Amino acid sequence: MECIFCRIINKELPADVVFEDDMIMAFNDINPAAPIHILIIPKIHIGSVNELKSDDDLLAGRIITVAKELAKEKGIAEGGYKLLFRVGRHGGQEVPHIHLHLIGGAQLTEGIHAVDKKN
Ligand code: 5GP
Ligand code: ZN
Repeated sequence: MECIFCRIINKELPADVVFEDDMIMAFNDINPAAPIHILIIPKIHIGSVNELKSDDDLLAGRIITVAKELAKEKGIAEGGYKLLFRVGRHGGQEVPHIHLHLIGGAQLTEGIHAVDKKN
């Protein structure tokens, strides 16, 4: 199987798993952008937000709820955090299996710009 996150789900590749149920897996990002940086993914392969169908509404909601629960468990709920879905090339998505970034544990300074001025 080509998809790196499907390989993690199938235990063909190691990951530092912090949550798993029948629908969802969450693991620490290999290259963390902050003290807490967790990726929350569905166990079925969906390429990106662009490929979500209305049948996936429950799954999409569950991804956010798991993120919220992990934020609480990791002690960053009160201080705040960032949830991020990158979508496609302009969104900077590198892994083509939908994933929600949970980023926190420090003051996050990176802004949201309409256009990346470096490019
Ligand atoms: P994207 O840019 O697609 O939104 O985010 C992909 C994220 O996956 C990046 O933050 C990157 O560090 C992380 N990542 C890529 N490959 C692996 C891996 O093999 N294991 C883990 N744990 N994270 C990965
Ligand atoms: Zn996949």
